[in-house]
Amino acid sequence: MLKTSAYAAVSAVSPLAPYTIDRRKPGPRDVLIDILYCGVCHSDIHQVRDEWGDSIFPMVPGHEIVGRVVEAGLSVGSFKVGDIVGVGCFVDSCRTCAACTDGEEQYCEHGMSATYNGYERSGPQLDPDRPTYGGYSTRITVDEKYVLRIPPGIPLERAAPLLCAGITTWSPLRRFGVGPGSEVAVLGLGGLGHVAVKLAKAMGADVTVLSGSAGKEADARRLGADDFVVTSNRTAFKAHAERFDLILDTASAQHDYNAYLQLLRRDGTLVLLGLPEPSPLDAGPLVMRRRSITGSLIGGIRATQDMLDFCAEHGIAADVEVIGMAQVNEAYERMLAGDVRYRFVIDIASLRGA
Ligand code: NAP
Ligand code: ZN
Ligand code: ZN
Repeated sequence: MLKTSAYAAVSAVSPLAPYTIDRRKPGPRDVLIDILYCGVCHSDIHQVRDEWGDSIFPMVPGHEIVGRVVEAGLSVGSFKVGDIVGVGCFVDSCRTCAACTDGEEQYCEHGMSATYNGYERSGPQLDPDRPTYGGYSTRITVDEKYVLRIPPGIPLERAAPLLCAGITTWSPLRRFGVGPGSEVAVLGLGGLGHVAVKLAKAMGADVTVLSGSAGKEADARRLGADDFVVTSNRTAFKAHAERFDLILDTASAQHDYNAYLQLLRRDGTLVLLGLPEPSPLDAGPLVMRRRSITGSLIGGIRATQDMLDFCAEHGIAADVEVIGMAQVNEAYERMLAGDVRYRFVIDIASLRGA
């Protein structure tokens, strides 16, 4: 085992604090990655605080990982020492179920191994009782099949958030065939939302941000939005009724889905990406205009690579505020207060030096 510096929460009410974990030595198919940057996703907060009721402690969060390969197992074919790579929200899956063979490993019928707050699978060098630990740490061992190539040209700290925020918003934009002529709305201008705006715009859509924060309008337009609607103004829901083909709902806190459904055209779709507390749903807005409501979970490995390559080609990267590891608890509070433009990214050098 490789002793590795990390930051962990030991319970749902504990702040993140220094902690040492064991990483497995790389097996034949594994790469060992020195982590350079790790993004801070709102899902980290939900899970550290056990808001989904499935948290495993101690927990080392972090699933927006960029690093450098420092060791490669004998059978590794796609990566070599020195390569710059990424790891997203999962590090393993069964590889044989319909979801896995479709390249939708995140929906693995036997359960994906989440990058953290999950367990390893069975197999050589693996232990199904060993919890997974995420990117708030100096290194990670991952099977090469679950590792992404970071294309040249994207600044590494700005690439990290693409591994979750990027793929999560990419998946529904592709699934619903967004392109020129599409009227897309992005609800919530945070980590996911700001990447969604850039991706949808690059795909040729007409993009509107629906935000509770009037002060974000200039940013939204700079990011590429064509329009900005302040949702705290209730007349907005009448003024923009039946306007959009697709709404990507990235809001992290409870809100009224029924009100947002009214903003869709006939046959329009509301895609839930945020995972807040439950909220009631009325049949009316769905029935009366044959609208749909659906959800979407991150994306598969192949799609994640396509998204990274698209971002490199179109000059897309996250807007980030780089922090040291010791600032992470404060960063959580700032995210909850809506004070982040638009993703915190931890410089893992700050943990290595500690
Ligand atoms: P974030 O950076 O904190 O952004 C969330 C945004 O939601 C805020 O910037 C805010 O935007 C908006 N918001 C907050 N409270 C709201 C409320 N009461 N009503 C409406 N909007 C509200 O979070 P994130 O990292 O982008 O994550 C967003 C959500 O997606 C989280 O629940 C996270 O767990 C989830 N997530 C899901 C997946 C998936 O695979 N489905 C992947 C990653 C994350 P405005 O200031 O513009 O209103
Ligand atoms: Zn995430
Ligand atoms: Zn599977």
